[in-house]
Amino acid sequence: MPTLDTPVNYVRGVGPRVAELLAAKGIQTAEDLLYHLPFRYEDRQNPRSLDELKPGETASVIAEVRGAALLRTRRGPLFELTLGQGRCAMKCIWFHASYLEGKFRAGQTVAVYGKVEPSRSTSNFKMIQPQFEVLPDATDDAETRLLEVGRITPVYESLGGSRLASRWQRKVIFNLLEAVRGAVPECLPREMLARLDLPAREAALRAVHFPAEGTPFAQLQSSSTPAHRRLIFEELFFLELGLELKRRRMKQRAGIAFATDDKAREAIREVLPFHPTVAQKRALGEIAADMRAPTPMRRLLQGDVGSGKTIVAFQAMLVAMENGYQAALMAPTEILAIQHFLAARKLLERSSRHPRIVLLTGSLDENRKRYNRGLINRGEAQLIIGTHALIEEKVEFDRLGLVVVDEQHRFGVMQRFKLMKKPGQAEPDVLVMTATPIPRTLALSLYGDLDLSVLDELPPGRTPIVTRRVPGERTAEVWEFVRKQAAQGRQAYIVYPVIEGSKDDQPELDFSHDPEDGTAPPLSAPGKLARKGKTAELFPGAVQEARPAAKSGLKSAVEMYEILRAGPLAGLRLGLIHGRLDADEKDVIMRRFQRGEIDVLVATTVIEVGVDVPNATVMVVEHAERFGLAQLHQLRGRVGRGAAKSYCLLITGGRVSPLGEERLNAMVRTQDGFELAELDLTLRGPGEFFGTRQAGLPEFRVANLVRDRQLLELAKQEAAQFAAQPGPAVTEAERARVWARLKEAWQRRYGLVEAG
Ligand code: ADP
Ligand code: MG
Repeated sequence: MPTLDTPVNYVRGVGPRVAELLAAKGIQTAEDLLYHLPFRYEDRQNPRSLDELKPGETASVIAEVRGAALLRTRRGPLFELTLGQGRCAMKCIWFHASYLEGKFRAGQTVAVYGKVEPSRSTSNFKMIQPQFEVLPDATDDAETRLLEVGRITPVYESLGGSRLASRWQRKVIFNLLEAVRGAVPECLPREMLARLDLPAREAALRAVHFPAEGTPFAQLQSSSTPAHRRLIFEELFFLELGLELKRRRMKQRAGIAFATDDKAREAIREVLPFHPTVAQKRALGEIAADMRAPTPMRRLLQGDVGSGKTIVAFQAMLVAMENGYQAALMAPTEILAIQHFLAARKLLERSSRHPRIVLLTGSLDENRKRYNRGLINRGEAQLIIGTHALIEEKVEFDRLGLVVVDEQHRFGVMQRFKLMKKPGQAEPDVLVMTATPIPRTLALSLYGDLDLSVLDELPPGRTPIVTRRVPGERTAEVWEFVRKQAAQGRQAYIVYPVIEGSKDDQPELDFSHDPEDGTAPPLSAPGKLARKGKTAELFPGAVQEARPAAKSGLKSAVEMYEILRAGPLAGLRLGLIHGRLDADEKDVIMRRFQRGEIDVLVATTVIEVGVDVPNATVMVVEHAERFGLAQLHQLRGRVGRGAAKSYCLLITGGRVSPLGEERLNAMVRTQDGFELAELDLTLRGPGEFFGTRQAGLPEFRVANLVRDRQLLELAKQEAAQFAAQPGPAVTEAERARVWARLKEAWQRRYGLVEAG
């Protein structure tokens, strides 16, 4: 009899070949399969008959295929399916859907779900881009019929082509649930479930896959049935419990108690080029308090682009150095590492302490690296700035006191401190910096193992960036404006969504692609969604977002670089930078731009993070409707960094979807990163904003950070309480199960287990 731990290849209906496909989707055990939840449902309890439909309503219809045709139209291939029921007929239409050709045979029974529209042709109604499924007929087995007709039917993301699509999953999961009946171990205390009014684990799994008749359909679609809530809570509870535990353990470890006395203050005072903002003072105060404490600091410094995080970090590093320790700063890219290195050198010119600053990145030549490693190891370098190479090159520090990292590196670094410090030395302090303006409650819950400081104020003297939308027809005026700025000695960025225009070109980013613009594939198109893999199931709101550029007619960086150079911007010094250049090439271009040897940098979103060129005053984004809000905000943050007035010009080409409109209007309306973050979160879910990978956040199986924010709060509270004192009603066995589950969940799902 299978248990939840049974390897998936022993689950009925899964063989070794299929198991391989599943493994590629991260599904290795029976449990993984059960936690692959439907991403939507179809209500086939009461399908509507064609003669009772009304235009405007959304309905589920089961009818017979009368005809199907792929029509060539000026706007591209259009697939038309005619369904019939008695004397009534309905047409279903899909755009750009040549993949549907040959999918239907006359006489088949098909379930469609969509909005009913009046029709002018021979049919009574039509549906545009409905969701659909060909239903089993008499030749299919009884089981399939049982699972698909006359009930609420689960629809799954495919786990591998059309073969492992919904139908296959329904059967396998149904059988698996039967096989483990009565044997799914509960992993949360009974008392907690009772108090929170959540169902048991097994009941929840059953109800989520095969909802009981009469389950409120809206609750199902919004993942808010008690069963859904239970599984989401479970996932978030173990995340929060792990974070809570890490925090508690950290507070018990031996760290360094730095002195933040007059000497340290003087070291800062003599180099600081300006008065810190109130927010900077507060953050530094919080950091200093952590550094004084004899336990290791684990703090997140959050602040919008340009809020002055770097300078705060430098001050903390000065404190560490003044105490006789080394400080390390780890940047996400070589460009940024070099930028920080140059900035640090300039800042510390004024220091009477003359600390030695060393750069360590992957592309330095071997001799240089060896030499620098030696300086670090012997304690002859006090301030070390680098990339991930600091970890990869196995540098052993002489006396490491403080590490500053950006959030991308967070997890990698936390696990590998042991490599960086000498055995037996105390744990260094860690300051994580992030420019992602995560709303506070979310930040607190997600980074539960870190304490939080926020820079919610920009340094004074910034003139707001003038942000304008420009319709594509008026692009010539934009080029004229860029020329004028260049004539005044200013520099500009011009950003494109893709590198090259060729058909198979991939975008440098995940486009925000709105469902309502009509080109997104229908949800039930097999294979189309599979590409999206995990993200789609984690963030249902983002299901249709990430797609390759397609033939598209998008302007590209490479192409426009040539066009602009030869035409509208002829005579200016243009540079081109994109992700396909190797690190050295990028670096050369970036430095030339920094030195003012390039007037206009044509780019993709590679310039999104962190580059600081105060003389750049114009940010032009073409196809701005294609970019996500977070990206636009980051891009805009590249200008307005000096005293001169800066401009962000958002050029749109073609039709802009309503969601695109909202994004662009928000950009024009506000420069507040937190406000934009909140809006982005509500508009489209966390997919792009957090981009789990990029932010180093764990991936979720069932939770969605935006939709489930309240459950996240609840899970955090419960986790804190459980870690402190589980309460008398919780049995010894239940506690043991929670801890066992925690260990397993963190190791397997998040891979965040910190050594030691
Ligand atoms: P972040 O790292 O948060 O994006 P930076 O630390 O790069 O921001 O700061 C952005 C710019 O503002 C830098 O040019 C920096 O020198 C300047 N700056 C930072 N703090 C202040 C301040 N308190 N007063 C004036 N300028 C500041
Ligand atoms: Mg400390």
